[in-house]
Amino acid sequence: MAIKEPVYFNLSVTPNIFHSCLFQVPDPSKVAVSRPTILQHGQPSRVRLVEQGSLSYRIRFVNVAKILTKPDLSTWGCFETKHPPCSFAEINGQILDFRKKKNWGKDLPTDITDYIQQGANEVKVAVFEDQTERDASKESIAFCIEVLEVTSRTTIHKDCLTKQFIPIHDAKLKIRERIKPRQSKDDEDLVTVGSDTIALDIQCPISKTTLKVPVRGKHCSHIECFDLDSFLSSRPKYVGGVSIVDAWSCPICGSISDCRPQNLVTDGFIQETIRKIIADRGGQHNVDRVIVRSDGLWRVYNPDVDTNETKGKKKHEVIDLLDDD
Ligand SMILES: [Zn+2]
Repeated sequence: MAIKEPVYFNLSVTPNIFHSCLFQVPDPSKVAVSRPTILQHGQPSRVRLVEQGSLSYRIRFVNVAKILTKPDLSTWGCFETKHPPCSFAEINGQILDFRKKKNWGKDLPTDITDYIQQGANEVKVAVFEDQTERDASKESIAFCIEVLEVTSRTTIHKDCLTKQFIPIHDAKLKIRERIKPRQSKDDEDLVTVGSDTIALDIQCPISKTTLKVPVRGKHCSHIECFDLDSFLSSRPKYVGGVSIVDAWSCPICGSISDCRPQNLVTDGFIQETIRKIIADRGGQHNVDRVIVRSDGLWRVYNPDVDTNETKGKKKHEVIDLLDDD
C-alpha cells in the first residue's frame, strides 16, 4: 500500500482559526472500510479486507520550510508526520484522535477511511499555538489529506514490464549522461573504470543474487538497480501481509528517492545485458558486474584488469566487448 495522491493540501495552516476542507468521493465502492468481525480467539474486532485497487484515506500534519510552491508527491512523501502539540480535527462531524509518538517516538498519520461517505466529505482542522512564535519560525505547519492505494504484486510486475519499462535505447542515453559530467557531488559515488566507462553491478544489493527484474526509482540519479521481487518481499508489512505505507525508500540511495510501486522503472539495458550473460554462460555464471562504455557497448568486469586500470597502470585492451544491438 502506498500514497496514491493527495486530495487536499494546505501548506501553511494559520494557527488559532478553524480550517474547513472539502473533498469528493464519487465512488465509495473501492474504499476499504473496516468491518466488525469475531476473531479466532473470540474477541470482537474490526478487520479491513483489501484487494487490488482498494483505497483508504488518512490525514497528517508535517513541518515544512516556508515555501510558496506545492512540493511534488515524492518530496512530500519523504516528510515525517508531525502533529502539532495542540490541535483539533474532525471529519463529517466525527472528532479524530491524533496518534502522537506512537511509533518509536514518531507521530503517525490518522486513518479516516471508516468515516468516508459518498459525495462531499468535510474535514475541519485547527492548530492552537502562539502566532508570534510561528511567524518567527522558519517552518510552516502543512496539512494534507491523502488517498492510499493497494497494488497487487502481479499488477506491479505487469506495470514494471510495460508502461514503466525503459527501452534499451533510452537506458543507454541515461548511461551516457551519467558518464559525461562527473562534476557534481552525486558523482562521487560513481564507480568509473577508464575515461568513458562505468562499472554496473548486476547483483541485487538486497538478495545478493543476479537481478531478475532490474528496477530503480524514476527520480533516482543512479543507474544501479535492485531486484523488483527482492524489494517487494523486503518491504515491512502490516499484520495480514500488506506493505506499510511509508516504507518505499530506495535501498541504494536511501530516503532521498521515492520508490513507491508507481515510481519504479525497469532498466531495459541492464535486463537485456543480464539475459545475454545468462544465455552465454548459463544460470550458474559468476558475473556480478559489467563495464559499460558511453556508447552502450559493454563487457564483463574483470577484477584483475579493471582494478589495475583504476590504479593508473597501463590500460589493457578492451576485450570481450559485446554489442547489445
Ligand atoms: Zn535510488
